Amino acid sequence: MRLRRIDIVGFKSFRDKMSLEFSEGMTAIVGPNGCGKSNVVDAMKWAMGDMSPKSLRGQSMEDVIFAGSESARPLGMAEVTLTFENDGSAQWDDSIPREFREISEIAVTRRLHRSGDSEYLINRVGCRLMDIQNLLAGTGVGKQGYSIIEQNQVGFIVSARPSERRLLIEEASGITRYKAQRERTVKR
Ligand code: ATP
Ligand code: MG
Repeated sequence: MRLRRIDIVGFKSFRDKMSLEFSEGMTAIVGPNGCGKSNVVDAMKWAMGDMSPKSLRGQSMEDVIFAGSESARPLGMAEVTLTFENDGSAQWDDSIPREFREISEIAVTRRLHRSGDSEYLINRVGCRLMDIQNLLAGTGVGKQGYSIIEQNQVGFIVSARPSERRLLIEEASGITRYKAQRERTVKR
């Protein structure tokens, strides 16, 4: 699942709409301290369903919404859309419209309003957070994926216990989603 583009509006330091295209090959984001490089990565993690404000370097989830600056007022909503190449590796549940399987791109959107209301969309159609997690599980993208490797994670992988390292292997082998489904079934 290659990420083709990211569209951000109202998320952290990005008050105005900001889009980045990732063409084939390697893309590097460079800029002075505090210009928003890490915020782009936070936006990716958030749109993939990260629910931990701490992991997104904030205190509460609302901290991802543009908080205002000297010249601009705070915004009421943050929105991030990740557009992936539909290469056949996504895991389509029956809850998702069947025709999406045939479209060449998959757009995953997350929105948060200051009121606390959240919205999740796949190809602009409303869905549950769980639908996005299921879609991405086992593709290497997503919350438990290894597509985002942060500085502290390199150390973690080296010093992890076998049981922790196993989680990464489970994701790589594509069984994470079955484990999640099993957990949900057992809970019911
Ligand atoms: P470095 O090179 O130091 O790692 P960076 O380019 O990764 O810097 P970021 O951490 O992405 O920088 O961005 C930090 C900036 O984002 C800070 O100026 C901070 O004030 C701003 N910021 C974070 N959250 C918000 C928010 N909710 N509203 C407005 N600005 C925000
Ligand atoms: Mg940074």
